Amino acid sequence: MLIFCKHCGLLLPAHETVCPRCGTPAPRPSAPPVRTPLYESAAPQPPKEGPRYDSPAAEPRSPMGLAGYFGSLILFAIPLVGLIFMLIWSISDRVRPERRRLAQAYLIRTVIFSALLLVAALVFSAIMSSVAYRMVYYPYYF
Ligand SMILES: [Zn+2]
Repeated sequence: MLIFCKHCGLLLPAHETVCPRCGTPAPRPSAPPVRTPLYESAAPQPPKEGPRYDSPAAEPRSPMGLAGYFGSLILFAIPLVGLIFMLIWSISDRVRPERRRLAQAYLIRTVIFSALLLVAALVFSAIMSSVAYRMVYYPYYF
């Protein structure tokens, strides 16, 4: 069975585990070399997502604990400061991607919420002004 280096395309001897030219690890003959990455990218990968408590190596993958999560939520609830932190974190928090995702989600929620509030305020003020207008100029309607 012929094995070619994935990186430089050199034909590798069957017993080689590392490419002698560029040092790239040779694909294992037992595993299908093309199907595996396609399958992994297409599948939703349920075992890799989410916290795994059985292995201690998975612990540092979630640096943002429950305290940090709720702390961020409390911070986001502060009217102006929360918005500023949301903006900063959603753009430039590369240290904690979980906090960036949280900030982005809350930023979107805040934008939608304030847009709805603005529309509601506009509709309400339009109704109230028209009611006031009619009360002044057409008092016989009431
Ligand atoms: Zn190579």
